[in-house]
Amino acid sequence: MIRAMVESVDANVQVDAVIFGGGIAGLWTLARLRQLGYSAVLIEARALGSGQTIASQGIIHGGVKYALGGAAGRESAAIRDMPAIWRACLEGRGEVDLSAARALSERCYLWTTPGFGSRLMGLAASRAIRATPDRVEIDDRPAVFRDAPKSVDVYGLDEPVLDVATVLSAIADAHGEVIVRARFPENVRLLRGERGVERVFVTVDGCEVEITGERYVFCAGAGNMEYLSRLGPAMAGFVRAQRRPLHMVMARGDLPELFGHAIGASSTPLATITSAGENGDRVWWIGGRVAEEGVAREPDAQIEAAREELAKLLPWVELAGVRFATWRVDRVEGAQAGGKRPAGPIVREVGNAIFCWPTKLALAPRAAEEILEHMPADSAHAQAGVGSAGAPVSDPPWAEQREWRA
Ligand SMILES: Cc1cc2nc3c(=O)[nH]c(=O)nc-3n(C[C@H](O)[C@H](O)[C@H](O)COP(=O)(O)OP(=O)(O)OC[C@H]3O[C@@H](n4cnc5c(N)ncnc54)[C@H](O)[C@@H]3O)c2cc1C
Repeated sequence: MIRAMVESVDANVQVDAVIFGGGIAGLWTLARLRQLGYSAVLIEARALGSGQTIASQGIIHGGVKYALGGAAGRESAAIRDMPAIWRACLEGRGEVDLSAARALSERCYLWTTPGFGSRLMGLAASRAIRATPDRVEIDDRPAVFRDAPKSVDVYGLDEPVLDVATVLSAIADAHGEVIVRARFPENVRLLRGERGVERVFVTVDGCEVEITGERYVFCAGAGNMEYLSRLGPAMAGFVRAQRRPLHMVMARGDLPELFGHAIGASSTPLATITSAGENGDRVWWIGGRVAEEGVAREPDAQIEAAREELAKLLPWVELAGVRFATWRVDRVEGAQAGGKRPAGPIVREVGNAIFCWPTKLALAPRAAEEILEHMPADSAHAQAGVGSAGAPVSDPPWAEQREWRA
């Protein structure tokens, strides 16, 4: 079937943009380009969203998390419009149609850990930003907080939490005919040219298709580094990336649903927990400080550290029978002095190549906007078929994880 499709297409395809990588940055850019009348092809090496997007916690931040240190910084300004932009897309009236995607929760919560310092920090956070979090009265709290002591404050944030796989599917289903799955470097070959990239050769099911683009847009996360190293030292010297590793923890069992950050006297949440699955077999996907500080720990030690942290942050939640696992994943971003988190998306143009790291899932719309600024004013090529069978969406870490420890 695939062979028949590939044999029936042109061996030479010309498009306005060739996009590498089908995580949120590549897919959002693809959708925006095509909506504006540009032709494009997206080349995905594995499954869509593999790497960071499928591992993300799906929180569409509006900046509150960054204000936890008591000051709203550059990051808050870059991100505060994102919840409204994404909500419009989820309702089918935004720049990308996400009406087929699902929000897991309309809000995200902050809860303070028992103790004076953390209460103070909770208030500091609420003063530092434009959209202040609402203090949630005891009767209105989600079920997970019903047995919490009175000293625990809970704030609601206007930040939806998304089922990321459904976001990826919503875009991929609408544009599958121009998404090609081809392993790199075996089946994707770049020809260098004076302006950067001359053309790309992609092998699909044994047939080679030559693709020429007006622009080559690299949205491959960690894969951008591989492309940079192949494009030569001049480009690699100008565009650099950084990795910030995480050692995430998964807890699985009869757990209540939870979407929120535990806050204390630190600029990073002590833990950020999002939930997947049904009652009775729910997975908590646990990031925040425990994942950042646990990078050097072996999995068993990381599980032990996470258990201790949960017992401090949510002492009223019963963890008997809950099983644990860990997952290593790197955040990949445009390089910053001192390895700091960038304030917004990083988009760099070199010749006809554009490299993008959105920094956050939430910031994908801004990243795509910046990429569009580097496109020619008008489309030069009608959309050509590439005989693609599309690419599947990646499974989330908890679906791939086989070993769980008591
Ligand atoms: C644990 C974790 C939790 C996070 N939580 C949040 C959150 O709650 N909210 C938020 O806003 N942000 C969050 N982030 C950040 C967010 O996930 C990332 O900023 C975003 O997903 C990056 O998207 P991307 O498309 O640039 O890269 P990726 O998601 O890494 O996608 C890259 C794509 O390129 C493909 N690829 C790789 N190499 C090649 C190649 N050579 N050729 C072609 N394709 C290739 C990959 O298979 C993949 O599909 C989180 C990140 C992590 C790691």
